[in-house]
Amino acid sequence: MKTDIGLPDAARLSADLEEISRLVDTSRPGWSRVALSEVETDSRHHVAALMRAAGLDVRVDNIGNVIGTLSGTGSDRRAIVIGSHTDTVDGGGRYDGIVGVLGAIEVARMLRESGIRLSHDLRVVDFYNEEANRFELSCLGSRALAGSLTSTHLSATDETGRTLGAALAAAGYDDPLNATRWGDDEVLGFLELHIEQGPVLERAGLPLGIVTSIAGISRFRTLFTGRRDHAGTMPMSLRHDAGCAAAGVVLAVEQIAGSADQAVGTVGSVTFTPDATSVVTEAALLTAEFRSPDLGWFSLARDQIAEIAAKEAEKRGLTHEVTWLPWERPTAVDPRLSSAIERSVSALGHPAAHLYSGAGHDGVQMAKLGPIGMIFIPSRDGRSHCPEEFTELDDIVVGVHALARSVITLDQEGLS
Ligand SMILES: [Zn+2]
Repeated sequence: MKTDIGLPDAARLSADLEEISRLVDTSRPGWSRVALSEVETDSRHHVAALMRAAGLDVRVDNIGNVIGTLSGTGSDRRAIVIGSHTDTVDGGGRYDGIVGVLGAIEVARMLRESGIRLSHDLRVVDFYNEEANRFELSCLGSRALAGSLTSTHLSATDETGRTLGAALAAAGYDDPLNATRWGDDEVLGFLELHIEQGPVLERAGLPLGIVTSIAGISRFRTLFTGRRDHAGTMPMSLRHDAGCAAAGVVLAVEQIAGSADQAVGTVGSVTFTPDATSVVTEAALLTAEFRSPDLGWFSLARDQIAEIAAKEAEKRGLTHEVTWLPWERPTAVDPRLSSAIERSVSALGHPAAHLYSGAGHDGVQMAKLGPIGMIFIPSRDGRSHCPEEFTELDDIVVGVHALARSVITLDQEGLS
């Protein structure tokens, strides 16, 4: 069986990246191609055309996932799935997700040009709307594939009061819950090539990362309620200042995450009522999140937040409540798939780091359909979700080569 795959075509990848980066909303900062925008629809037509030219059989499902299939020669009907997303955050960059889609299309071309026929079907996917949209929902396309998109999601509204379901219908996807879900036995493995979006690989001077897991995300709200008083006349010792208690929790988020081995914590907003310097703050509402690949750590962090919030409230005679929102648990990467990636990468002679992903990905949803694996390539200065986002072409070429080799390993060895 022929297995000797050639190198990715660097000039072709560079031209692909250049071409799609012109399909952006020029009225917005950076390289914006947000989901549910006209330019994003154009770009997915463009991706479908690239897939067709690569010899893939292309269809667009009920929620806008662009899926190109290269038929396999064997009897195992489970598919090897590769791909990523081409939508961006507002003011985003040119590489997040995009490298994974264009790289997956390049893998299909490389297979054809090397005369390699896979035993399994290869599905190349441009997942619809991976980034959080204006309805504050992310991973729409992969959610629908995994059967975890619900009518509750579709009834979420944006600031104009329009529902997500209505916005999808206007984009041509009027029945996203039906006939989109994939079966439980359809996926042999899902492999995603993605930029790291952080500084680990660059600092280590390594071209590749093998992802060990995707961090869980747990968000909470804390409301402190005290007493509104005159800011000039009420002595400090007699105040019930809700704002000062919120400040204690802000610093606690930093301290709790900062003292863990693998965790980050971020305060998103603090709202004071009233927001005037002449009045002692009566109510303070804080929103924050923790991320970690360590499932057990979250309960520890939650206990600490509960304890500190209670202490801050008690000190000042306030009432308080801490509300934890529905959360995403850490997602495990399949060790068999990681090992297949590792063997493929070392066969190509590349050193690689093992690292977890702090960012969420479509893999979180795809893990519900089968084993997942991820390959990271370096991000300059660790920057992402900004116009400065950059990955060297040489690193992209190495990443695509590693992806192609991993696909062949998975095809030949399965996951036994
Ligand atoms: Zn991404």
